[in-house]
Amino acid sequence: MPQHSQALDLEEALTAIRQQLRAPSTYETCELKDAFGRVVATPIHAALSLPPFAASAMDGFAVRQQDIVATADYSLRQVGTSLAGHPYTGVVAPGECVRVFTGAAIPSGSDLVVVQENVIEQTLDRITFLPHTSAEHHIRDIGNDVTKGQCLATPGERISPFMLGQLAAAGIGKVDVFPRVRVGIFSSGDELRDPGTPVQDLAYGQIFDANRITLAKLLDDLPVQCIDLGCLPDDPNKIDSALQRAASECDVLITSGGVSVGDADYIVERIRQQGELQFWRLNLKPGKPLAFGRIQSSWILGLPGNPISTIITALLVARPAIAQLAGTDLPAPLRINATLKHPIVHSPGRTEYQRGQFEADQTGYTVTHTGDQGSNRLSSFRNANCLIEIDKSRGDVAIGEEILILPLTNLLH
Ligand code: AMP
Ligand code: MG
Repeated sequence: MPQHSQALDLEEALTAIRQQLRAPSTYETCELKDAFGRVVATPIHAALSLPPFAASAMDGFAVRQQDIVATADYSLRQVGTSLAGHPYTGVVAPGECVRVFTGAAIPSGSDLVVVQENVIEQTLDRITFLPHTSAEHHIRDIGNDVTKGQCLATPGERISPFMLGQLAAAGIGKVDVFPRVRVGIFSSGDELRDPGTPVQDLAYGQIFDANRITLAKLLDDLPVQCIDLGCLPDDPNKIDSALQRAASECDVLITSGGVSVGDADYIVERIRQQGELQFWRLNLKPGKPLAFGRIQSSWILGLPGNPISTIITALLVARPAIAQLAGTDLPAPLRINATLKHPIVHSPGRTEYQRGQFEADQTGYTVTHTGDQGSNRLSSFRNANCLIEIDKSRGDVAIGEEILILPLTNLLH
């Protein structure tokens, strides 16, 4: 049985992890189309200004300011058309105008676009305009969005769809990104059978493994390569050889189960024996037994086995840790105040995360739990859209009191 160590608060554990984990020291180059979700490894600079040429912001007519009359109708001779992708190549001379459309290059000689709504008469080549009243030029100058050479992304930033769009527009075809983190995922326990095994083949006392499939998907959006390493038996020798083999191939191992103080809980002791145990146990409910350490050059996170404890610790600990290894920081979870619609019984000591359902009303947000909160009860996630955070300093919480909630959608970004 593992020796007892000082239990850490969640923030202390995250700080300890942050101090240990480093961004990769290498990078690879990938095509922009494959770069979504990856972490930028070297600064990215715009290859051209945006827009690269003065462009019309409206459909209308490109004119010379000197030709405009502010007090009376005026007319100009139309000498050509400039469409997006098909610029007018001539020069606009005094008394002339060119038909322009949004995104088209502004013809040289002209310095203002009169919107087409201000045309009062149009013959074959003569356009008559209303008196000019607007101070707006309707021209997007070169570089009004981005200037050539401007830094568009720095190391550690994750490539979002928005960034992809800007990089594409700014002429970037390839980017340097950190390698994906190789995450080896194990379950542990003699009772576990792989999902998909016919139900009639399940022996008395066996259950289906719920954690591996969930863990892989809880990490899926991060820049990782998840490797399904199957299930560890409750046998210290077999655990040792499996962990050693996996540690040589992965950047981080994640196990679930076998980290508590039961007779068949071997993981903590095996980390201690085979590598280095950094901490074990958090002031967290669910999720108290959680081991963090390393084996060879691989980190290892031993998550508790009850499926709810696995999920909560994956969201609150494993995801930020893996992001760190990937070279980026996840933003701190969004915490929102909500009014509690049911009473919560809570003893001070550990911060607890219940599954809840929040909704907006006229005054803010209200939240209620999703039923029995046992750490084996995956049903408590059914219809949940947030975690309810009951701070370790708090006792019972009454109906109508304010409580913090963490929206699940935010925890998964
Ligand atoms: P342990 O810490 O190994 O005693 O596991 C705690 C509880 O979680 C036990 O009831 C296990 O059967 C259960 N458990 C552990 N791993 C899994 C898993 N992968 N899927 C479903 N239940 C699990
Ligand atoms: Mg077990």
